[in-house]
Amino acid sequence: MSDMHEAAKQTLKRLITGTAKWRPNHSSDEPLNSPEGANHPMTSDYSEISRCNRCGFCQSVCPTYAETMDETQVARGRIHLVRLLNNGQYDWRDDKGISEKVDDCLLCQACVVNCPATVKTDEIMLAARRDFIEIKGLSLFQKLVYRGALSHRERLDRVSTLMRLYESSGARNLLYLNILRKSMEKLIYFDSFLPDGLEIPARESLPTLRRPQGEPKMKVAFFIGCASNIFTARTVRIVVEYLVSRGVEVHMPKVSCCGEPHRTAGDTAEVARLSKSNVEAIFKPDFDFIVTDCSTCAHALAHYDKFVGEDSPEAEIVRPKLPKVLEINTLIRDHLGLEPSQLRELPETKVTYHDSCHAVRGLGVKDAPRDILKSIPGVELIEMKGADSCCGGAGSYGFSHPEMSGRIASTKVQNIKKTGASTLAVSCPACTLQLGAGLRRDGQPTKVLHPVELLAQASK
Ligand code: SF4
Ligand code: SF4
Repeated sequence: MSDMHEAAKQTLKRLITGTAKWRPNHSSDEPLNSPEGANHPMTSDYSEISRCNRCGFCQSVCPTYAETMDETQVARGRIHLVRLLNNGQYDWRDDKGISEKVDDCLLCQACVVNCPATVKTDEIMLAARRDFIEIKGLSLFQKLVYRGALSHRERLDRVSTLMRLYESSGARNLLYLNILRKSMEKLIYFDSFLPDGLEIPARESLPTLRRPQGEPKMKVAFFIGCASNIFTARTVRIVVEYLVSRGVEVHMPKVSCCGEPHRTAGDTAEVARLSKSNVEAIFKPDFDFIVTDCSTCAHALAHYDKFVGEDSPEAEIVRPKLPKVLEINTLIRDHLGLEPSQLRELPETKVTYHDSCHAVRGLGVKDAPRDILKSIPGVELIEMKGADSCCGGAGSYGFSHPEMSGRIASTKVQNIKKTGASTLAVSCPACTLQLGAGLRRDGQPTKVLHPVELLAQASK
């Protein structure tokens, strides 16, 4: 092993153990993507790394850094780890710690929008994850959850059946018996994600077409994502019925997972396969809009030209229709309108709103859900501290990184509690699960609802 390699390895170990002194702007900026003779198998384009000037501004906004104060848990440190790998100064196969640090990133983009150089840290982490998968293959978690379940809609329905059986059979109650409770802490944590009264999946129970009375105002394709399908099926039904009551013809074609979980894992091949299968159902027919109640799916569909492969024939079909992709709050506010005469007063309700990362930073949607909430008579909207800070849900992060995810959720729950709100409004099923679980663990009775559920409650 060369001296350089050994020195890099020691630096990295100190960074990972948190004992390294950070030296901003140190002069050893190594060449990128040209490590002659270096032992590195990374093939992605990492030129974005060179734009990081190591100023450290990202420290003030990164949720994982806020919980750990660890330099390897913030954009600057993560970028440096990938820099070392990419320069061949460290062989990632020597230490699992590096891929863990890359996997620990929530991809929440808080660092990106607050970075003076707008360094796309999320893109750098995604590139590294793609390279990791290319060489070492999928992890067991990715094989089981992503390729094993999310990739197959019929298997997801079976998972839902098992979960409902677990709940209705009383097996769930066993976890909470005093005698078992202590030894079941991990399982109790995972159980907290399961909402009470899980319903039949939305894709199974809804028809493929719901027509309004009279001539429709518009025809929309409603994309039912995997998490909405299983965990918030009631919300999907309420949203669809609201649209129908406002004169919208709602098509619900048979779709597969949008591919976002696979994309965040770096599983490019599966992203292309899943997205191409959805193009036929969603993008090929002529709809006025393509909508979904899930911010993450909306963000994925709005970037589907990249999902299917920018040079693929499917990209030609998708590209002209991308402006038609809307998350549901935007569709309602901008295209159906919020008529005060159509709303009755709800009993006084204090509501606070959580912005999902994919909506607020991914799609730039901040005001539409708030405008909906503010339009409802009886609703008082109270902003929480850090409303747009990631909740730690990040797709399946709550399951793959329970410790970090739980800590981030607790911070968010404290901010929700301080508002005194009785209802938390959220426009993303993954955030709904994550924050619902956090509130349950904290013993809070706070309801978690989609803004359109409140709007539907107030509708005449
Ligand atoms: S990622 Fe951006 S904010 Fe963070 S150190 Fe680099 S340049 Fe500064
Ligand atoms: S994307 Fe989010 S979690 Fe990842 S480094 Fe940036 S701020 Fe931190």
